[in-house]
Amino acid sequence: MTPMNPTEEFGHDSDYVLTDSFDRQVRYLRLSVTDRCNLRCTYCMAENMTFLPKSKVLSLEEMTLVGKAFVELGVEKIRLTGGEPLVRNGIVELAQQLGKLDGLRELVMTSNGVLLDKFAQPLRDAGMSRINISIDSLKEDRFKALTRFGNLGDVMRGIDAACNAGFDKIKLNAVVLKGTNDDEVVDLVQFAVDKGLDISFIEEMPLGEIDGHIRSETAIESRSIREQIEDRFGLEASDNHDRAGGPSKYMRIANSSSRVGFISPMSDNFCASCNRVRVTAEGLLLLCLGNEHSLDLREIIRNQPASLKQAIVDSMQRKPERHYFDPKDITITRHMSATGG
Ligand code: SAM
Ligand code: SF4
Repeated sequence: MTPMNPTEEFGHDSDYVLTDSFDRQVRYLRLSVTDRCNLRCTYCMAENMTFLPKSKVLSLEEMTLVGKAFVELGVEKIRLTGGEPLVRNGIVELAQQLGKLDGLRELVMTSNGVLLDKFAQPLRDAGMSRINISIDSLKEDRFKALTRFGNLGDVMRGIDAACNAGFDKIKLNAVVLKGTNDDEVVDLVQFAVDKGLDISFIEEMPLGEIDGHIRSETAIESRSIREQIEDRFGLEASDNHDRAGGPSKYMRIANSSSRVGFISPMSDNFCASCNRVRVTAEGLLLLCLGNEHSLDLREIIRNQPASLKQAIVDSMQRKPERHYFDPKDITITRHMSATGG
């Protein structure tokens, strides 16, 4: 992974090729490697989901082509996600291929941790530098209910395996839902501090309808989570964004090496600094998490591969300015698992 000049081939005057019409530079790709998952988190997926047939999912070779095209266009960071990325056959081989790309500075992943016990070391060896692990509860029964059937012990073993694998950074992610796990904020932070890890709290987004789950009733703002943490631990200012960074706003937890991040798509719109796009497992380039603007990369790869990079460059002009999420009005029918979180 070495730096390159992404503007050479396209000869643009601007510093970077992937610049949208609001002058934002896209340097970060979230690549969903599958829409399938070994859990069914109640806020993410419906109980009975219809998954993509294999023929519609990009092959590993096609995913490598997509990653290569974006890196040649100036993307510096790729996050593998899903669904659960570790249920995709060949995930380590994909990481190895992407890890070799000249110009890519960071290859990272978001995982639910269930299979990390097996995969943490091979991923690290493949060149993955950082990993985010989602964990919404430290109580076994509650974890099972939240994920519909998950086993907390598997995730704990996954976290330990990641800690032993030598990643540059490991971050925990938690979605807090009012009346479900909002009493565990302090415990989750303490867990992160004890392990020497960072932790981010994510506001629930209204992506997809889920029977029996009313998003407007579970929504909780980062501000109230932050107050709980501030009261118990004390928070100090911290460095926030690097240029290929994500949407988390970080604070340092007093007297510890851990940071706590707040991802607040509902209460503190961060679209003005958006530097990322997503590609779904079926090859749909989503220009914004909260809008439907997209480009079918699978069709291009399979029928006119020579035009892939130019098509990506052109699509930037259609990246919307911002999302308008409303938990009472779910206009985006895609679930997060199909979007690539
Ligand atoms: N399966 C992996 C995992 O859970 O980490 C990766 C994919 S998951 C879709 C990525 C992240 O999105 C997880 O941290 C999850 O908690 C979060 N997520 C899922 N649905 C969400 C929603 N509706 N609003 C906010 N975050 C959500
Ligand atoms: Fe699976 Fe991740 Fe969605 Fe949970 S949040 S159902 S682990 S994709």
